[in-house]
Amino acid sequence: MARAITLAGPIPLSQYMGAANAHYYATRDPLGERGDFTTAPEISQMFGELIGLWLADMWDRAGRPAARYVEFGPGRGTLAADALRAMAKAGLEPPVNFVETSPVLRASQAERVPHAEWSLDLIGVEEDMPLLVVANEFFDALPIRQLVKTDMGWRERLVACQDTLFLPIVGDRGFDQIIPQHLRDAEFGSILETSPPTVAILRALAKRLLEQGGAALIIDYGYEGPAIGDTLQAVRGHEYVNPFDQPGEADLTAHVDFATLKEAAEVEGLVVHGPVTQGAFLKALGIDARADSLSRAHPDRAPSIALDRERLVDDEQMGELFKVIALTAPGWPAPEGFR
Ligand code: SAH
Repeated sequence: MARAITLAGPIPLSQYMGAANAHYYATRDPLGERGDFTTAPEISQMFGELIGLWLADMWDRAGRPAARYVEFGPGRGTLAADALRAMAKAGLEPPVNFVETSPVLRASQAERVPHAEWSLDLIGVEEDMPLLVVANEFFDALPIRQLVKTDMGWRERLVACQDTLFLPIVGDRGFDQIIPQHLRDAEFGSILETSPPTVAILRALAKRLLEQGGAALIIDYGYEGPAIGDTLQAVRGHEYVNPFDQPGEADLTAHVDFATLKEAAEVEGLVVHGPVTQGAFLKALGIDARADSLSRAHPDRAPSIALDRERLVDDEQMGELFKVIALTAPGWPAPEGFR
């Protein structure tokens, strides 16, 4: 990347983030205590199980059609394995499609869900039946663009490179026309983020749900924008690091704008439920009862089960920052957990 920038000049932040994350995910399994970050399904089996039961309930009330399980960015395949086990108990044993770019993570997914089929995007998923879709901490890894308010108006943040040092700079082109009216006069230094790949993927997903029927559950940390704020972050070994230091060696993410997801889905004609917080969602789905029954079955693990439950639902932990939305095809039942 350093060579490309040196040859061709500064690149948009989105291009930098895309290239850095492609290298990052392709070369390692970043999850868990010994990795860089821990996700909800890696904290507790309860997370994937409750999602599996949510999907099975949707499917049951939709009249038990033949349906596919599709997961975007399945990580180690832990969520899918837990969800599929819970779904099987409810009588649902769908074919499985994983949308995943990383060969390292595909190998780990194959250990947990050997009968899955893999593709690089939705185009590789068959159009034969309704889709039951899950994406947990997937959209946060997709590239964002940042626009910054300067004394010359709104400009795009680009990434320049000197020797092997990367640094953000301000581009020459003006972007005032695309800034929402109420944000145009924001203070100097204000940053507005957009994620073109997020919108593209969501619209493609929405089209497929409209054609084939089905439902999608999207969980991520985020906000309801458009809003001012720089949410680009890099995490390595469970610590925040400089996003412009050693690209491809830390996980680069940005908060997800749920208002944009919602709008993109509604434009295509889907019904959107939420966002609600992860804490409220998991409680509505019965995480307390599930934690109790797991603790009764494994009394020795009861204290750690209680801690895991807290990590998932407490407001100071993942409960408030993480949000959940569901997208359903018209005619599909209203999902649990969004009242
Ligand atoms: N959902 C998992 C993993 C989250 S990490 C969990 O909750 O544990 C992000 C996942 O998205 C990884 O599996 C990563 O390889 C995948 N990913 C990142 N960018 C992608 C892209 N553009 N297309 C497909 N998968 C991608």
